[in-house]
Amino acid sequence: MKLLVTGGAGYVGSVCAARLVESGHDVVVLDDLSTGHADAVPDGARLVEAGIDEAIGDVLAAGFDGAGFDGVLHFAAKSLVGESMQDPAKYWQGNVVTSLRLLDAMREHGTPRLVFSSTAATYGEPDEVPIAETAPTRPTNTYGATKLAIDHAITSYAAAHGLAAVSLRYFNVAGAYGRFGERHGVETHLIPIVLQVAMGRRERVQVYGDDWPTDDGTCVRDYIHVVDLADAHLRALAHAAAGEHRIYNLGNGMGFSVRQVVEACREVTGHPIPADVAPRRAGDPAVLVASSERARTELGWKPERVDLAGIVRDAWDFTRAQQGA
Ligand code: UDP
Repeated sequence: MKLLVTGGAGYVGSVCAARLVESGHDVVVLDDLSTGHADAVPDGARLVEAGIDEAIGDVLAAGFDGAGFDGVLHFAAKSLVGESMQDPAKYWQGNVVTSLRLLDAMREHGTPRLVFSSTAATYGEPDEVPIAETAPTRPTNTYGATKLAIDHAITSYAAAHGLAAVSLRYFNVAGAYGRFGERHGVETHLIPIVLQVAMGRRERVQVYGDDWPTDDGTCVRDYIHVVDLADAHLRALAHAAAGEHRIYNLGNGMGFSVRQVVEACREVTGHPIPADVAPRRAGDPAVLVASSERARTELGWKPERVDLAGIVRDAWDFTRAQQGA
């Protein structure tokens, strides 16, 4: 297929773009490089360095070598939870308004398929774990609220205009794929932060609370390898059906606590990784684990890289290569 990948110079977008190219698809990456990196665009994919708002009409009109795109994978987004609470306009504008622009441009140019990066943050504090797609959506932060708003918009565009759409709700994405990995200017995620300690770029890790109602008192999350996540996108593209908007949760179905993550990082890196207990972080639910039953049944998807040490090792190899270590 001829595919447009928005945000294809970012973490998940670059891994997906790489897997799409390897699978024989023609890929154009549209990325303004506000948080992405030009050298994260895989060989074989073309980069258009521009924002969706300014460029989407021209990019879809141009197509790929004159032929229209068969689909869009929409990764480009603002994705920092804390920032979304302090500067909501950036998120409503940058996520919701921009995605509406994209939907309208796709409609105008007859682009038939959309795969959208949604998030577990659309659910908020769960009543039950594992979390199924039928769980109530009550986001506790602006980031999750904007992603949910986009999901609603996609549902109505699919119903009204025949778009074939899939939203994939990611849980905690981790790991790397060779030279494609996580490098954020502002790092807030647990595994990269712990690995920064192992690299000597940070003194210690702060564990946000050890009095949660979990086995070891620290928060439990569902860490999914970015390559498994990318594979779900390829399946979603193949299964998207005109006029339907399907939603799938993607996690490996297993929860790991903050302490287990720190321990796995100690084993993989051989570094003692000093950790201090700090106050709970506002808005953190105790446990977030996905039910990926629907993705397994309907997409035939199964996460293959479920071992925490393996996920950490891939992230560690990537981190060291980045630092030239
Ligand atoms: N966390 C932590 N210390 C940190 C960063 C994160 O204890 O320096 C915890 C956080 O409270 C959460 C888990 O690690 O329970 C995963 O956090 P992350 O920000 O990676 O992902 P989130 O689950 O918030 O999307």
